[in-house]
Amino acid sequence: MTERPAFGFDLLGTDGLARRGQVTTGFGTVQTPAFMPVGTAASVKGMMPDQVRATGAEIILSNTYHLMLRPGAERVERLGGVRRMMGWDGPLLTDSGGFQVMSLGPLRQLDEKGVTFKSHLDGSRHLLTPEISTRIQHQLDATITMAFDECTPFPSSKSVAADSMALSMRWAERSRQAFQPRPGYGQFGIVQGSVFEQLRLQSIEQLVAIGFEGYAVGGLAVGEGQEAMFATLDFTCPALPADKPRYLMGVGKPADLVGAVARGIDMFDCVLPTRSGRTGQGFTRGGPVNLKNARHADDPRPLDADCHCPACSRFSRAYLHHLFKAEEVQGLMLLSWHNLTYYQDLMAAMRAAIEAGRFAEFARDFATRQAAGDIDPLSPLAAR
Ligand SMILES: [Zn+2]
Repeated sequence: MTERPAFGFDLLGTDGLARRGQVTTGFGTVQTPAFMPVGTAASVKGMMPDQVRATGAEIILSNTYHLMLRPGAERVERLGGVRRMMGWDGPLLTDSGGFQVMSLGPLRQLDEKGVTFKSHLDGSRHLLTPEISTRIQHQLDATITMAFDECTPFPSSKSVAADSMALSMRWAERSRQAFQPRPGYGQFGIVQGSVFEQLRLQSIEQLVAIGFEGYAVGGLAVGEGQEAMFATLDFTCPALPADKPRYLMGVGKPADLVGAVARGIDMFDCVLPTRSGRTGQGFTRGGPVNLKNARHADDPRPLDADCHCPACSRFSRAYLHHLFKAEEVQGLMLLSWHNLTYYQDLMAAMRAAIEAGRFAEFARDFATRQAAGDIDPLSPLAAR
C-alpha cells in the first residue's frame, strides 16, 4: 500500500499581499487561490462529479448539518464516506455545522457544551458539540475538517462579539482534541471576532497556539457588506501565519473574490454560482446576466464569448432563455456548468496574474470589464 502524502501548504509566490500556493492532501493537490464548489447534500446540484472536475475544480465542500440529518453520518460512513458515496475522487472539505445551526434561529439552543437544535426536515431534536461535529466529519471522511464554532451574527456589539469569539476559541480547543490526525488529512481553525480588530487578533493568537493545518476567516459575508468585509480582512490576513492556507468562508461574488485574494486569502466557497445557475443568473466577464430577460429570446450569441464551457461553446443565449422559460432541467444544468466554469476561470486568471506579478493590473481590468456591463442587445432587425 502506498503511503498518502502528508497534508501541507506551499507558498509558491506572492504579488503584493496576493498569494500563489498549493495545498497538498492525501487525495490530490489544490492550486490556490482556489474556489470550492458547494455540494451541500453530497451533490453539486445539477452536476456530475466529472463535470465539476472538468470546470477546473480541485476540491469541493459538503455540509455536516445536512448530511448528519440525511442520510445520516453512520450510513455515509458505511458507504465509505462522502467522497466514495458521491464518486468524487479529489479532496473534500466539510463545514462543522455551526453556520447552519446558527441560521436556524429560534429552532436552536446554545450553551457551553454545544448547540441543541430541531431538524428542519422533521423537527427531531439533535445535539452538536465540538466533539460530535468532529466525529461526524471523521465519519464523513472529510479531507479537511472544520472546527466547530459559533458564527457571530452581524451586527453584534463588541462585548457580545467578544463572548461569542471566546466561546468559539474554547470550542476550537475541544475540536482539536477530538480530531484524529491521519496522513493526508487536516483540520482548520476558524477566526471569529466580527468586525473588531482587537477581537480578530486575539482569536488568531489563540488558534495559532492550539495549532491547525489551516485557518479560516468566519463570521463574514453575513450582512456586513463588502467594505466592512475588506476592512476586516485588511487587519486579519497579515496576522495569520504565512505558511498555512487561509480560507474565507461563504464568499462570494466575483468582485469579493478578487478583493479578498488581493488581501491574502487562498480559498473560498460559495453557493452563488450553482444557486444562481438555477435561477437564470449567469456570471460573465461583463457582469451578471439574467437569462430570463426577454432581450435574450432571439439572441444567437453565446452567453460569454470568452467562455469554453458547453453552455457557451454549443448553445445560444436564445436557447438558454428558452430552457429557463420552459423550466427544462437542462437549463439549470448548463448554467450551473457555465457559472462554475466562470468561477474556476477567474481563479486560474488570478493565479496566472500573481505568478506574472501583475495582479493589481488584473484587478483593475476585471473591475473595468465588470463595470462596462453586458454586451448590447441585438437590434430587432439584426435578430431576425
Ligand atoms: Zn460558459
